[in-house]
Amino acid sequence: MGAKQESTSGSKDADRRLGRRALLVGGTAAAVGTAVLARDELARLWWRAPGVEKPREQGAVDYTGARWVAASDANWRRADRPDDFGIDMVVVHVTQGSFASAVRAFQDPGHKAAAHYIVGQDGRVTQMIRELDVAYHAGNRDYNERSVGIEHEGFVDRPQDFTGEMYAASARLTAGICARYEIPVDREHIIGHVEVPGTDHTDPGPHWDWDRYMKLVRRAATSGPPSGGPTGPTPSGTGV
Ligand SMILES: [Zn+2]
Repeated sequence: MGAKQESTSGSKDADRRLGRRALLVGGTAAAVGTAVLARDELARLWWRAPGVEKPREQGAVDYTGARWVAASDANWRRADRPDDFGIDMVVVHVTQGSFASAVRAFQDPGHKAAAHYIVGQDGRVTQMIRELDVAYHAGNRDYNERSVGIEHEGFVDRPQDFTGEMYAASARLTAGICARYEIPVDREHIIGHVEVPGTDHTDPGPHWDWDRYMKLVRRAATSGPPSGGPTGPTPSGTGV
């Protein structure tokens, strides 16, 4: 599961945005004949630039196999990834509870944590936070900003919870994420929550079969259907 961590800071955000946007805004600055803009000025300017914010459609999902159920907006932060923060990582979690209890937790504004996706033991995939937004799932601000978080229904000490359907569905989902953001399919970029620096979480635990999972992700990455962009709203927006 996720963990609360989000602190407020401005300067680091601004610096990272600046790096990505400097070229774009630099061109604008040159066109109006301004030789030098202060860093603060530049950081503000890109927020005003038209077309920066991507269009959002109610109920849209980033993965065609997912059903949308919105998380409480207390459990994530609005962003414009991958333009403001690059995405180069997938973080694998285990819910330590049922699929339904994970959905309820992420809908609860008091939970202060949520992942982008939950994958059930039957292979169903629910998306609760858009990939362009920052979900509070890793307990580490930097890792939250650069990653997509996937929860898996089960308990870390119950190997029988990690079903073939769940591995296969999750692998297709992860392969799609890797394709969308050109993330290498390896264990440097597809990690467990336990591998996030500073975490006290142990998920996905010793029974998560990384060799099996990575094989499935690689297979889905090479043979799977193109992941494409966001799709329209799913027919039924509720349920678990
Ligand atoms: Zn976790």
